[in-house]
Amino acid sequence: LASFLIVTSFLATSHFHTIAAAFPTAEDDDIFALDIVSKLRTDHASTTKASSDFGHIVEATPSGVFHPTSHADIAALIRLSLSQPRPFTVAPRGQGHSARGQALASGGVVVDMLSLVEHGMPMSVSAKELWVDAGGEQLWIDVLHATLEHGLAPRVWTDYLRITVGGTLSNGGIGGQAFRHGPQISNVHELDVVTGTGEMVTCSPDRNSDLFFAALGGLGQFGIITRARIALEPAPKRVLWVRLAYSDVKSFTSDQELLISKRSSGSGFDYIEGQVQLNRTLTEGRRSSSFFSVSELDQLAALAIATRSSAIYYLEGAMYYNDVDHTATSSSANQKLEALLEELSFVRGFSFVRDVSYVEFLDRVGRDEQKLRSAGAWDVPHPWLNLFVARSRILDFDAGVFKGVLRDTKPAGLILMYPMHKDRWDDRTSAATPEEDDVFYAVGLLRSAVAAGDLGRLERENAAVLEFCRREGIGCKQYLPHHASPDGWRRHFGHKWGRFAAMKRRYDPCAILAPGQGIFASAC
Ligand code: FAD
Repeated sequence: LASFLIVTSFLATSHFHTIAAAFPTAEDDDIFALDIVSKLRTDHASTTKASSDFGHIVEATPSGVFHPTSHADIAALIRLSLSQPRPFTVAPRGQGHSARGQALASGGVVVDMLSLVEHGMPMSVSAKELWVDAGGEQLWIDVLHATLEHGLAPRVWTDYLRITVGGTLSNGGIGGQAFRHGPQISNVHELDVVTGTGEMVTCSPDRNSDLFFAALGGLGQFGIITRARIALEPAPKRVLWVRLAYSDVKSFTSDQELLISKRSSGSGFDYIEGQVQLNRTLTEGRRSSSFFSVSELDQLAALAIATRSSAIYYLEGAMYYNDVDHTATSSSANQKLEALLEELSFVRGFSFVRDVSYVEFLDRVGRDEQKLRSAGAWDVPHPWLNLFVARSRILDFDAGVFKGVLRDTKPAGLILMYPMHKDRWDDRTSAATPEEDDVFYAVGLLRSAVAAGDLGRLERENAAVLEFCRREGIGCKQYLPHHASPDGWRRHFGHKWGRFAAMKRRYDPCAILAPGQGIFASAC
């Protein structure tokens, strides 16, 4: 590919026909009509930018970066690859916010999906049928603003909104609303996909359904999602955003499970997550937070010391409401919240409530990003490990990991822990969830390596966590998975592996797509 790109980028300026002669098997019409070659950049700055990601752990330099201006461009690029004696790999890249090189393509071509934002189709909203058509390249923050213009919004959100529709739908897209509505992949009506054979296919549960379900949670293996029709609901105006502290994991998980059992809208919280604060994080960690004041953090550290807990847990809830006078303490939302808190077993005196706009709530990690960027702590290695743990083993996991492997770890970021219902995940999608139990927990070890030596230590701790799960027979399933061996991938997909591999043979038989996932080796 490298020599092809050097030749083509030289020729691109004026001698297109020479390329056709050099590659007589290529779909010449595509290449010339769509001017594919001039949209490929091979300069050092472009390839360097596309050779790493948010994780800053893996590096892989592509031979070129493709800047499509239409979906047909993407299809033509794939057909160009397939016309070569040895097809080159093609990696769609959204924001590149993966942690382990999933959107990279060593020696191949990275498709910069964000190029489509200015050239692609505008988002369109059906207020009657409650959906938005968004390009795979769109950032969720932009989907939010576009839908709010109609008083509507998607039902499920990731915690961070500056990632793309195609990127999250290739994984799952989880957040505090998933207990009620399932992940983002359970809230999509239709997709447009450019497959690994270069075809542009519209698919839905009723039309080309095998591709539709394979692509959702499909880690970019079957095609490039160029449009998604996403379900919407009426957007609330305001949110009561709550954190409740627990010194004991049993009360924390019982309350979380009680709250997620209130599934119908209008009862309980609209969003439920949770965090684990290890002792050293509270006593030595960062003294600022987008939620807690410094004095509240001191109060929480004192709680950890007084109760001799090795960890404090925060249940995080959000209750949506629409009152016009949002300062009224007697509002129905506040009354409803008070009644709900009465049912729960957090440490009395340790409930913290903020009254914020819906956008402020959803974009909370955007504010953290600004703070971390100004502290130079954003563009650092992120050896993140996200796991799904079956409900029946979560206390074993807590005892072995938070009170065992990580007990004395240095403060290094955030740990999330919250439950969701398995029946909200459509088993026909490619996403892998624990086989046991009807409820599982998402546990995110979202840690950053800021100082020298941190990365190696955090990687060793991650390996120890996985080894603990293996030894104890806790079937931890990785979310945003990374496996180094074919066996690891087979185990990851479990009963879905046979279908996953068959879909790959059907929709990307040469295995050119998303090579950075490391699931399939090139097959042509
Ligand atoms: P990329 O990293 O660019 O791509 C991810 C994978 O998808 C790659 O394999 C790529 O080839 C493929 N891909 C990209 N675009 C397409 C497309 N259009 N069609 C097909 N395949 C494609 N996730 C959650 O679920 N919940 C969270 O709350 C959450 N919070 C996060 C917070 C932060 C700060 C960060 C950095 C990540 C978070 N994530 C969360 C993870 C995030 O959802 C994934 O990393 C997601 O892949 C990022 O989207 P992206 O656009 O950066 O994708």
